[in-house]
Amino acid sequence: MRQGLVLVISAPSGAGKSTLIRRLREAMPELGYSVSHTTRPPRPGERDGVEYHFVDRATFEAMRDRGEFAEWAEVHGNLYGTALTELRTAAEAGQDLVLDIDVQGALQVAQRLPHAVLVFVLPPSWEELERRLKARGQDDPEVIARRLANARQEVAEAPRYHYVVVNDDMGRCLEDLKAVVRAERCRPVRQQAALAALLGGD
Ligand code: ADP
Ligand code: 5GP
Repeated sequence: MRQGLVLVISAPSGAGKSTLIRRLREAMPELGYSVSHTTRPPRPGERDGVEYHFVDRATFEAMRDRGEFAEWAEVHGNLYGTALTELRTAAEAGQDLVLDIDVQGALQVAQRLPHAVLVFVLPPSWEELERRLKARGQDDPEVIARRLANARQEVAEAPRYHYVVVNDDMGRCLEDLKAVVRAERCRPVRQQAALAALLGGD
């Protein structure tokens, strides 16, 4: 069985990560997406089971206490976590999987899955990050202020990632992300079928 690519993507809120991931998945529809659990209320248009599994705090904490999360973290005052089943289903299918998770979660995944590939998306400037958060128009002013305050600590962790892409121009940044996926698919561990075809199974 091919070892699927586990692609972890993090960014400070507002950098454009959700938009980039949506476009990456449109360009590469074979990529799976890990649907996280969260206690955050849905934003307008978000659907349960699609963007997130929306659960209350008691449900989340019960899952956490049963050890059902591969990683979890409190982010901007809400709980977020990746259920182990999300990783298992993709691994069993040999499918590449994208995880949209914060820095704390990314470092937990890196410990659990040493082959995971970590990509950090940077905004071009702090001013542009604030402009995008306000332009999105989906969060209250105090939520935006909290997210901006957290952004500096998050960006300080970017050197621990394998790749850093700058989301200045969306199209160009998307090309960088696609290049990362293509390059990572060429690692020998993910080319075992091609190697076995030439060298035999043992
Ligand atoms: P995140 O998921 O990182 O919080 P979003 O994808 O929701 O961010 O993007 C935040 C806002 O910034 C959205 O309104 C989005 O349309 C806008 N945006 C994203 N990338 C760019 C870009 N490269 N240039 C201009 N605006 C962008
Ligand atoms: P948002 O509320 O804007 O959708 O997400 C807020 C932050 O939580 C983002 O940085 C996002 O990557 C992160 N996040 C989403 N799902 C998970 C998860 O399952 N685990 C962790 N650790 N962070 C997550």
